[in-house]
Amino acid sequence: MVGAGLAGVTTAYELAALGAQVQVFERGGSVAEQASFASSALLSPAVPALPAELPPAPLLFRLRRWRARGQAGEASAQLAALSQLSLARTAALRQELGLEDEATQGLLLALPDAKRAAAVEGHLEAWKALGLSIDLIDATEARRREPGLNPEAPLQAALAVVNGGTGNARLFAQQLRQQARRLGVTFRFHSTVRAVSSDGTGLTLRHDHTPPTEAPTRGAEREPGDTVPQLPGVQDERFDAVVLCNGLGAAALAGQRLPLAALQEITVTAPLRLLEAHPDLGPKAAWADPARGLTVTRIGQRVRVTGGLAVTRPQHRQAPTTAEFETLHRGLQHWFPGSVLHQQVQQGSSRRAVVPDGLPLLGAGGRPGLWLNLSPGGSGWGQACGAAQALARQIMGESALLELSALSPQRLA
Ligand SMILES: Cc1cc2nc3c(=O)[nH]c(=O)nc-3n(C[C@H](O)[C@H](O)[C@H](O)COP(=O)(O)OP(=O)(O)OC[C@H]3O[C@@H](n4cnc5c(N)ncnc54)[C@H](O)[C@@H]3O)c2cc1C
Repeated sequence: MVGAGLAGVTTAYELAALGAQVQVFERGGSVAEQASFASSALLSPAVPALPAELPPAPLLFRLRRWRARGQAGEASAQLAALSQLSLARTAALRQELGLEDEATQGLLLALPDAKRAAAVEGHLEAWKALGLSIDLIDATEARRREPGLNPEAPLQAALAVVNGGTGNARLFAQQLRQQARRLGVTFRFHSTVRAVSSDGTGLTLRHDHTPPTEAPTRGAEREPGDTVPQLPGVQDERFDAVVLCNGLGAAALAGQRLPLAALQEITVTAPLRLLEAHPDLGPKAAWADPARGLTVTRIGQRVRVTGGLAVTRPQHRQAPTTAEFETLHRGLQHWFPGSVLHQQVQQGSSRRAVVPDGLPLLGAGGRPGLWLNLSPGGSGWGQACGAAQALARQIMGESALLELSALSPQRLA
């Protein structure tokens, strides 16, 4: 495995559960330090986005995204089926392995005015045809389910995504990593994979030791035995199969053209204000406001607001501005006023990979023995456990759980 984010940890676990010997190479010092670190925590079936929700993007990406719209039919059905499998697998792993990831049930999408409420009605049938259970509920019912909502904020109706909820992706990955280790998976941290080559009899993985340049500030919970002692310099090791789960870094290793762009997002996380007189402050589960492009989620005793989505070139890194963070603070104040302690706010930004059709890249790569599990698009956490389970079965030659041909990386070849 290359990469120990959610995709890498879940796939390593599933492969080991099917009897494979697995090693995970991660350039960082722990699991779930990148895109999986501060996800908005939505655990939701993949709902095809309404056109107005698409994030801003460079011109070429917009053009490719527009061209890809016509091919979405079968792919949307496969993605919806994958996300349903994934939610079921996440629930099963939580239960069987006793994973505690601050899970909540409930996901509502705000429809602030009559125009927006009318616009979604046309989509309900299409979502139903994809097997997605999404109810249109009125404002009174939405406020009953989320009693912390600002009574002054205009609200016409809401979409209730049945089976939607939240979970702390990072906590989940950390606990699943322990379970994977019990099944014999080795985690090799501070190991950066530089190249993957094939000679027809196996794959050679070239990697080198990349020790941290400064003391780790987060996630330094490494354990004895995790990291196989590293020799300095470049090393080559052979494997029967290699699975790329390294997000944006996969483009350099895939041996085929992957038109990956970066989807940047900013987050604000703050402790929930706990007042006995106002027990309903803040969200109970997940509240999304597609019109403002933000989500507000409950993660244990904290509230996270995520927004500011924008597609950029992979190498383009832009520090978020104070004004962008203020938009999130205003959004939180609009929907859940006074619900957090503002003096303990954490602000951050994160990037994940995305391709123009917004679908995962899941399946065989461009050469024998090379596999991809990249979860571009909106709901990588929602798809992680199902994608891992389906791919592990494919790699191990087990019968397929789902038809996933439309999500294969070879659609880009
Ligand atoms: C701000 C934000 C909010 C999100 N909110 C949601 C949400 O609410 N719901 C949802 O379903 N999804 C959400 N997502 C998406 C979801 O979090 C991601 O799809 C998922 O975490 C991606 O996991 P990953 O393992 O593919 O990538 P990552 O977590 O980025 O892991 C990739 C790993 O590969 C390592 N790596 C890269 N290159 C190399 C190399 N050459 N050698 C070794 N290691 C390497 C990296 O260090 C990294 O640890 C969100 C994402 C972001 C950024």
